Amino acid sequence: MKLANILLAVAIILAPAGWYLAYFLFFSINSYPTREEFVSQQEKLTALTIDFNSLQQQITAQGQRAADAQTTTYSDNTEETNGLVDIYTQVVNIANRREVNAGLTNSSSSYLVGVFGPPRQDLTQDCQAMTNPILKDLVVTRDVGPIRVTMLEPAIISLQQIFKNVQVFEPELYDRISTAGSLCVRLIRGSETSISTHAYGLSVDLNIDGQLDNLGDGKTQLGLTILAEFFKREGWYWGAGFSREDSMHFQVSREKIETWRRLGQIPSGN
Ligand SMILES: [Zn+2]
Repeated sequence: MKLANILLAVAIILAPAGWYLAYFLFFSINSYPTREEFVSQQEKLTALTIDFNSLQQQITAQGQRAADAQTTTYSDNTEETNGLVDIYTQVVNIANRREVNAGLTNSSSSYLVGVFGPPRQDLTQDCQAMTNPILKDLVVTRDVGPIRVTMLEPAIISLQQIFKNVQVFEPELYDRISTAGSLCVRLIRGSETSISTHAYGLSVDLNIDGQLDNLGDGKTQLGLTILAEFFKREGWYWGAGFSREDSMHFQVSREKIETWRRLGQIPSGN
């Protein structure tokens, strides 16, 4: 409660008292009030004094409550911040898992071979060197904010934008992002023919606090669901929607690759 407010309140409550006092004095000069009038004025003044004292007590009490509230708010905020930090790694069910990529198309192995050709000829389950010259020309290693990745350059530019947004809107989460890998020229795990988007430098695996999400359990860390919104807005496809849930995995959608082709950011031939 500011001093100005208190003075204003006092002025308002004392204004009628002033009028009563002036009235009383005027009559005491010009004519003596009757005993009834005198008693009545006295009673009114007493009532106003009581009102004033009561208002003063209320102001003091409110000031104290405001001070208490400030202390409480501060400690509540601290708890809330810690609570939020802990929930980022909390494992939750993914709501409508197969619908999380609505409006975007998975960049399938056959589609990517059509656009770029295979990243190398003899692919296995292990990471090997990239030999495809078109892709090799486009691959770079760069910091994208919280992590350093090796990917195709347009994917890196997009990733930098995503993490810039995360840093502005979810700074606590941003500080806890780590990576479990980006470029790795290999087949999709468990497949003998399908090539992983990791082999093209078009995907990244993310962790919160370095904690790996369990593959294929239909669940994910809450922090990854928050990140997924940022990725989707930039045209990235989330592995949570794969038939075998892989929610730490984010890859460039087919729509995004088609945009790059139209803009000449990747070769449009093949
Ligand atoms: Zn992955």
